Amino acid sequence: EFQLSSSLLRKEVEQTYIMIKPDGVQRGLVGEIISRFEKKGFLLKGLKLFQCPKDLAQEHYKDLKERPFFPNLIDYITSGPVVCMAWEGDGVVASARKLIGATNPLQAEPGTIRGDLAVQTGRNVVHGSDSPDNGKREIGLWFKEGELAQWESVQTPWLIE
Ligand code: ADP
Repeated sequence: EFQLSSSLLRKEVEQTYIMIKPDGVQRGLVGEIISRFEKKGFLLKGLKLFQCPKDLAQEHYKDLKERPFFPNLIDYITSGPVVCMAWEGDGVVASARKLIGATNPLQAEPGTIRGDLAVQTGRNVVHGSDSPDNGKREIGLWFKEGELAQWESVQTPWLIE
């Protein structure tokens, strides 16, 4: 009997790279921030605490390398451990950006992570990919092959009809 597994039949599921920045780790916000994505119903596919080397920070933020704040940004991201995460689900990239809120925490709506937990753009506690293509690119940058888990949550049928 010939059967294709559902994961082969399904089209590729969207993934986003979410990172708790060093200020979020130092301020004890790791559990709080992870909770927001967990409670929303996205699927956690990768998770690690990681001290980011300078060259990786520069590669991750390469589109900003001409900006005046770039050197400070690289110092900030490499100033302590970050929490790297890959989250999966339909529409996860845009939805995670909404959960995170505006880049400037003073402009971020209450209820968002930055709106509730941060005050300055240069210390805005969390990163989220800005497009599905960047989600793929960034997960590829921050995770090695084999670091992502292949699993399905028992909650899935209670989240998606
Ligand atoms: P986002 O993280 O919301 O996608 P950007 O891609 O514009 O925002 O910027 C990436 C990160 O660079 C920001 O999250 C912030 O940490 C930093 N950054 C952006 N603009 C500034 C700024 N004017 N001053 C200091 N840091 C900044």
